[in-house]
Amino acid sequence: MDIEQTENVVFLYSNSGENCRDCDYWIDSSNFEEGINHYLSEHGYTLLHVGTETTTGSNGEPWHSTVAALAE
Ligand SMILES: [Zn+2]
Repeated sequence: MDIEQTENVVFLYSNSGENCRDCDYWIDSSNFEEGINHYLSEHGYTLLHVGTETTTGSNGEPWHSTVAALAE
């Protein structure tokens, strides 16, 4: 599956919190993996990709987070 051609892709980041796009389930760093499973089992999403992402934090140090891409 090509991510670029998939319209409904949700990106989850392990270092931020947000509600599930389809319900009120809250996902943040404390339940990141459960959040992925929530999309898969509750809403039938497909897991496209899980990887690490490095950005520059507010203190100038590299900040590593995990990102998961899920397609509806
Ligand atoms: Zn949900």
